[in-house]
Amino acid sequence: MKALVLERVGELSLRDIDLPSDMGPDDVRIRLHTVGVCGSDVHYYTHGRIGDFIITAPMVLGHEASGTVIETGARVTHLRPGDRVCMEPGIPDPTSRAARLGIYNVDPSVTFWATPPVHGVLCPETVHPASFTYKLPDNVSFAEGAMVEPFAVGMQAAKRARIEPGDTAVVIGAGTIGIMVALAALAGGCARVLISDLSETKLAIASAFPGITGINIREGALLDRVLAETGGWGADVVFECSGAAAAMRDLFRIVRPGGAVVFVGLPPDPVAIDISGATARECRMETVFRYANVYDRALALIAAGKVDLKPLITETFAFPESIRAFERAAEARPGDVKLQIRIDMESE
Ligand code: NAD
Ligand code: ZN
Repeated sequence: MKALVLERVGELSLRDIDLPSDMGPDDVRIRLHTVGVCGSDVHYYTHGRIGDFIITAPMVLGHEASGTVIETGARVTHLRPGDRVCMEPGIPDPTSRAARLGIYNVDPSVTFWATPPVHGVLCPETVHPASFTYKLPDNVSFAEGAMVEPFAVGMQAAKRARIEPGDTAVVIGAGTIGIMVALAALAGGCARVLISDLSETKLAIASAFPGITGINIREGALLDRVLAETGGWGADVVFECSGAAAAMRDLFRIVRPGGAVVFVGLPPDPVAIDISGATARECRMETVFRYANVYDRALALIAAGKVDLKPLITETFAFPESIRAFERAAEARPGDVKLQIRIDMESE
């Protein structure tokens, strides 16, 4: 079957490749409809590795996916052929200790689409466990379905923050993930979100959502702005979504005493943080690794109209244009939030 294959760093091809297609009794076969281009896909393309995950053999990219069920295994009861679905790309060992604790995202044996050596789904068909396949509500499009994966990171961050109604949150970094976190924080009860970046274009996209205010750190220190906005008290929750070492310096002065700092961004190298500053205010620190048990809730929020991810889809490329989509993504244009690739041109 034809797939978008990362052959080696910097080299993509759209070519035939043998992919596993055996169905188990708990699996579904899915015709892929839309797949989003993620920062991690682009990083494998441009750098050939993320941390210890290194491209050593050709790998199919893509993990933010929606599609249509075309076959169900004998034991599958909650899905039928024809169902429109989106898929969670990380599959844990269901009998593992982490899975039994409900933290299956940190199961050391988890396999995740487009994370070497596991192939992704920029291809016409895939087989997936039914329990990690979610039916799309009728009013949620395939394009929105493919946005659930990055939004799930925001959901996980909001969950880990333990937001209380009326909280003020600061989100550092208005990239795709920062905006997803800001939207999940609002849906989770924050009264307002202050979001920072150096890019005016990114801030304009984020601030177009009601409840989100952009702060350009080129115009002054984020700390001063947050203190001015909160009467000198600080934010209830600070979400670090830039991964930039420079953003770590003031984290524990931006958060209020007793507030929470949630680490989402992944700095490429270890960074120093102010433990004494955090301790003096008894700040809670949380980390986020992907997500667990949030897909249903993400879909419920989208279906209820409480979260609108549609404005974040910048452009959609047809499957034969996949390589062009990745070249464009590698340019990292500030106006591009999410590029998507549409594989199935027949279903609506
Ligand atoms: P991105 O590059 O699109 O966004 C990062 C944004 O931060 C950019 O807009 C950049 O201008 C801005 N920025 C840089 N320095 C800043 C600073 N000092 N203050 C404020 N903003 C600053 O990346 P993304 O796809 O949105 O991902 C964001 C981070 O989240 C990355 O580090 C990524 O690896 C990480 N990530 C983590 C998880 C997880 O499970 N923890 C999942 C996905 C992505
Ligand atoms: Zn992703």
